[in-house]
Amino acid sequence: MKLRPTGDLALIKKINTSIVLESVLKHAPLSRAQISELTGLNKATVSSLVQDLIDSHLVLEIGPGQSSGGRKPVMLLFNGTAGYAVGIDLGVNYIRGLLVDLEGNVIAEHQRGLKRHDAEFAIEQLAECIEGLMDAAPESPYGIVGIGVGVPGIVDDKGTILFAPNLKWRQIELQQRLEERFGLPVTIDNEANAGAQGEQKYGAGRGIPNQIYVSVGIGIGTGIILNKELYKGASGFSGELGHLSIEYDGKPCSCGNLGCWELYASENALLERAVLLGFDSLEELLASAENGDERVRELIRSIGDFLGAGIANIVNVFNPNVVIIGNRMSRAAEWLEPAVQAAVDRRTLPYHRERMRILFAELQDQSAVRGAAYYAISKFFLKIKS
Ligand SMILES: [Zn+2]
Repeated sequence: MKLRPTGDLALIKKINTSIVLESVLKHAPLSRAQISELTGLNKATVSSLVQDLIDSHLVLEIGPGQSSGGRKPVMLLFNGTAGYAVGIDLGVNYIRGLLVDLEGNVIAEHQRGLKRHDAEFAIEQLAECIEGLMDAAPESPYGIVGIGVGVPGIVDDKGTILFAPNLKWRQIELQQRLEERFGLPVTIDNEANAGAQGEQKYGAGRGIPNQIYVSVGIGIGTGIILNKELYKGASGFSGELGHLSIEYDGKPCSCGNLGCWELYASENALLERAVLLGFDSLEELLASAENGDERVRELIRSIGDFLGAGIANIVNVFNPNVVIIGNRMSRAAEWLEPAVQAAVDRRTLPYHRERMRILFAELQDQSAVRGAAYYAISKFFLKIKS
């Protein structure tokens, strides 16, 4: 009697397929025999599962690899262009979008200014940007697999933006609206979480298990990576460290607290003080610092001192391997870094600062948009593996 696959057998096959795909994603190029060695699955099983993955366009064969004697093995690669994903970084005054392949390589880019903040207008602009990127995708077996969006606000686990202070948005069901419009899986997350994910996967945090990403733009947000996983807290709201209290009786913050870190160490804080020197944009300040303007350099150093004070608190709590400073202010790295480092040295416990490094975002202003695209890719893999 021939056995029909039962629920259990089908489940085992799915699990094994996922193990084989994972080993191709991590170790390609590699041969079927190497997969068998790596996974402990027998060669016949591996061959049959690899054939399924080839049939579903996720794995490709390439020319023969090195032989250890005997017939040269055929090597396997992940087929990164089996599909594409869209990543969006919704800023307070811009929308940045990327089309990437399944390995995260950037295929097309789009950026536009965002001049008005009413939600209907902004969502329409967002949708146009997504459509333009989708149109740029080459033909592929899976087409567009999903959309990821990083936003400057607090997002719940259903992708609803609960509060975005700088956009003045409350309760915007962005995930649901984009899913209805595009008929694709959509992931919405805070831009600092997306930035942390981007740097962890493709940037300065690659291969580093414990990473705190500090997004220093108009405000300050943080994304926390522990053991290579994004830490989101009980409801997805972790990382609002821009509202750490650093002045007991300090300036009033829009959050209701006094003396929040972002009032002293963000791009806004810098620009507030730059007005007194006659500057009104980060670009102008950077150009003057570059030209040797000592007043501007001193101002940036002073912001760096405040930035370091908040980072010292974070380091004492999390004991990370690295802190990565990203978003707009990372462009002032040259003058910020010595001041941040000095403040962190002065304020952290010696055990914590040993081996801890401060880095600047490698992806520069693309940390969040690359991370957002990765959300879409990882959701696709989760679906095909389950
Ligand atoms: Zn605050």
